[in-house]
Amino acid sequence: MDTTAMPSAQTRTRTFRPLPVPSVTLGGLFGERQDAVCATTAETLLDRCVEAGMLDAIDVTKPSPGIVIPLQPWSGSTQMFWDSDLGKSIETVAYSLYRKPNPKLEARVDAIIDLYEKLQDEDGYVNAWFQRIQPEKRWSNLRDFHELYCAGHLMEGAVAYYQATGKRKLLDIMCRFADYMITMFGHGEGQIPGYCGHEEIELALVKLARVTGERKYLDLSKFFIDERGTEPHYFTQEAIRDGRDPKNFIQKTYEYSQSHKPVREQTHVVGHAVRAMYLYSGMADIAAEYGDDSLTKALETLWSDLVTRQMYITGGIGPAASNEGFTEPYDLPNESAYAETCASVGLVFWANRMLGRGPNRDYADIMEQALYNGALSGLSLDGKTFFYENPLESAGKHHRWVWHHCPCCPPNIARLVASIGSYMYAVADDEIAVHLYGESQARFEIAGTVVTLAQQTRYPWDGAIALTLGGLETPQSFAISLRIPGWAKGAKLTVGAEPVDLAAVTVDGYARIERIWSAGDQMRLDLPLNPRFLHANPLVRQDAGRAALMRGPLVYCAEEVDNGTGLNRLTVTGDPQAAREASVEGLKNAVALDLDAEQDRADWGSTLYREAPPQTQPAKARFVPYALWDNRAPGEMLVWMRRPDGRQTKTGSGA
Ligand SMILES: [Zn+2]
Repeated sequence: MDTTAMPSAQTRTRTFRPLPVPSVTLGGLFGERQDAVCATTAETLLDRCVEAGMLDAIDVTKPSPGIVIPLQPWSGSTQMFWDSDLGKSIETVAYSLYRKPNPKLEARVDAIIDLYEKLQDEDGYVNAWFQRIQPEKRWSNLRDFHELYCAGHLMEGAVAYYQATGKRKLLDIMCRFADYMITMFGHGEGQIPGYCGHEEIELALVKLARVTGERKYLDLSKFFIDERGTEPHYFTQEAIRDGRDPKNFIQKTYEYSQSHKPVREQTHVVGHAVRAMYLYSGMADIAAEYGDDSLTKALETLWSDLVTRQMYITGGIGPAASNEGFTEPYDLPNESAYAETCASVGLVFWANRMLGRGPNRDYADIMEQALYNGALSGLSLDGKTFFYENPLESAGKHHRWVWHHCPCCPPNIARLVASIGSYMYAVADDEIAVHLYGESQARFEIAGTVVTLAQQTRYPWDGAIALTLGGLETPQSFAISLRIPGWAKGAKLTVGAEPVDLAAVTVDGYARIERIWSAGDQMRLDLPLNPRFLHANPLVRQDAGRAALMRGPLVYCAEEVDNGTGLNRLTVTGDPQAAREASVEGLKNAVALDLDAEQDRADWGSTLYREAPPQTQPAKARFVPYALWDNRAPGEMLVWMRRPDGRQTKTGSGA
């Protein structure tokens, strides 16, 4: 057996590219979710966009719809973002066509693209709001009005649709717009030395550059990133020029849009959570494209700040509704958690891009945690309803909705689910990285040879994963790196019939197997999914004395439909290792966990306070995956549960 360990230093200097979406075919949990996107979500998104009036807004043969959604206190309207919703919906449809060709859906998107073609100005500008409703305000308020953000989402849609169908029309429209931006933005005479208040254009331009091979789009993206937060501050200058008081800013601070200082000097994750994730994603792309270590260094500091002080256990981020974003370190309220679906989707984007410079469990574990919990919760099992906020506790009033006045989340989680295969694997010149597990078949090209890699598994319900290589007309030497999640204590790997000493081959949390591979070679990975309680840093006041149940990558919660009302009256006494597993038919046979508990009795009397504590009675507590809550009967939900004694008396008890 030709199995050798590699030193860490070698793995960081190469470029790992995600597999293209059509290179991975999924079964299992994500296959089911993709089927739901193909069967319902993709069409639902287009239907809702039409119902909202979005097509009327871009159809130049119809009168301008005017302001349908009222102007808000910040002098804008969420209607200004409609192009972004169409862009993300087009992107979702594009990915869905790989799994399930759908001529009807494709024709609907073609018709939308025709409308955009007619809408586009001679100079290349295209934006429903600033062409049809407030043309006099074009480029007047980059701080608030999402103009470049909308363009970015249309670019992402254009790239995906071109790759899925070979149709160039929307791609050409967006290239024309990007070419126009190149003339408009810069430090030259008459140019705008600015950038968008809502990041997105940065990562979109990188996609446009990669699909067209045009470096000028990368350079524009880098310009936006380099300019952000520099002095004199563009948003201040712009406000003065536009006759607005720069201090009259509803969000008070430029931290809101991560433009309070140049990006390379930023050390704390601040402001609007989705904006932050999109910015860091764009920075990671530019770091990889330009080999810019100054950006990578800033990103590593920001990453550490996020995951050690500001992230919910679900991978939800941004606790506050007031700024749709971050507050103070360790401030993670559960019932009022904003934790927007888009923000967790954005965290998956960022984590994935941090893997571009080499496999590293620090990023991939968080990518999986955010994906399976805080992001996936945003889409119902039938693919028809959505969460915007993702609290970790509900008194029974928080439910999935059909649509929202600001419908950013539905197409965001839909496009992520529909493209998830591309997040599972990455490939370098001589190495395949497996970041995520799940029933799937992937196709790679490595050193000019076609390689297939099949995963047979029931993951995340079962931790046994059989991997089989195919293709490989002639044996080929390369490495396969398999992520060993940090939670998978006692993981085992065999290559062929031979057990692998994981300690000897693991680099940055990945078992790296380098050898000559042949078709039919097999590996077997066993990841113990052992149910376990996690405790929060004592500085998180909201979780004191409580613990959250996890199994594998999944966060579990208790729901009223299984446990009755008064979930906070439960104290979970059972040992998680002794949890009884059950399959829940109403949740597509998800694994539920049953544990012993004690319940505070409700026969307390009419007084509100008394000296004697409540009496308790034995009870059972059932837990289901957090991402699946509110798919059955509505009711209460709770993640952080009371435990009889979450403390340890000895110091240094560690992880
Ligand atoms: Zn959203």
